[in-house]
Amino acid sequence: MVRILIIEDEIRLADVLYDWFQSKGMQVTVFHDGISGYESALKTSYDAIISDVMLPGMDGFSIVKKLRSRKIQTPVIMLTARVELQDKLQGFEAGAEDYLTKPFEIEELDARVKVLLRQNRKETETELEEHIDRPDFILEKNSRVLKNTAGNKTIKLSAKEYTLLSYFVENFGQILSKEQITVRIWGYDTDVEYNNEEVYISFLRKKLNFIETDSMIETIRGVGYRLRGKENEAI
Ligand code: CA
Repeated sequence: MVRILIIEDEIRLADVLYDWFQSKGMQVTVFHDGISGYESALKTSYDAIISDVMLPGMDGFSIVKKLRSRKIQTPVIMLTARVELQDKLQGFEAGAEDYLTKPFEIEELDARVKVLLRQNRKETETELEEHIDRPDFILEKNSRVLKNTAGNKTIKLSAKEYTLLSYFVENFGQILSKEQITVRIWGYDTDVEYNNEEVYISFLRKKLNFIETDSMIETIRGVGYRLRGKENEAI
């Protein structure tokens, strides 16, 4: 659920905003003074903040500035009755993403909040789209795509294959026992037969082979498996 924080000391406006965003299915929290709003933004993970500039306790510029200095990057839209360009610049400088002058149409605010939420989501997705990089292959976390470094051979892994390979990568060159692998992939409370994990190992081997990487999964008879380079065992 989308969580919105509204910091606005004009009670009637705050009520209107509350009702509006609540009716859109969002979880809305309202504060009528700057300090309570700021403290709430520190403690709670909101998706967006709508804050007035002139507030009792702490003004909107200071709220944003202090949040940014505490590394809280929740997008902020500033509301203000003042129309001077100077104020607008000050708002952006403080770290606000957007700025709306009162009086405004609520549809306008709504549209801008939507833009912020969309941007925020994209950034989060970008963060998730990280890679596990090895000298000879790359494993994409979000899409579970395995590819060679040249990028001309790619193949998608299943969720279990992905978990298995990333476990091997974390422990490159080290032997992992069948028990460790089973627990990592299926958890403790299972009665998975060991040959089941052998099946996944063989899938993974085929896929590593397919992308023509130098890494291979070696069977250490009676002990377990390890991921290592084909040519030598150097990590
Ligand atoms: Ca005010």
